[in-house]
Amino acid sequence: MTDDASPCQACGACCSYSSNWPRFTIEDDAELDLIPEKFVNARQSGMRCDGDRCSALTGKVGEFVACGIYEIRPEVCRTCMPGDPECAMARRRHRLPVLAVDNDSA
Ligand code: SF4
Ligand code: SF4
Repeated sequence: MTDDASPCQACGACCSYSSNWPRFTIEDDAELDLIPEKFVNARQSGMRCDGDRCSALTGKVGEFVACGIYEIRPEVCRTCMPGDPECAMARRRHRLPVLAVDNDSA
């Protein structure tokens, strides 16, 4: 999920795609320490998920969603852009129409 003025607000598909998706990558310890423990998985390797859905996601996928840790979300969440291949994959999974690539949404 990217910024507030994007289709992501009415989507959330990538946040509900796989428990392996919102993993930690290049974050340093100081950045990870900001994420509330209740949202972090037992292995401390990524976001805690309920099934495929990230525990920080609120709302209903495909209608209206928000990220509970938007300002401090992991890098992988920042790099998924509306219209990119990962976005398309996630949206297909949730039977949402694939978005056209929009480079202005970053
Ligand atoms: S799947 Fe695409 S449109 Fe949906 S939240 Fe993720 S990046 Fe945004
Ligand atoms: S941390 Fe936020 S942006 Fe990342 S998967 Fe969870 S709800 Fe989505």
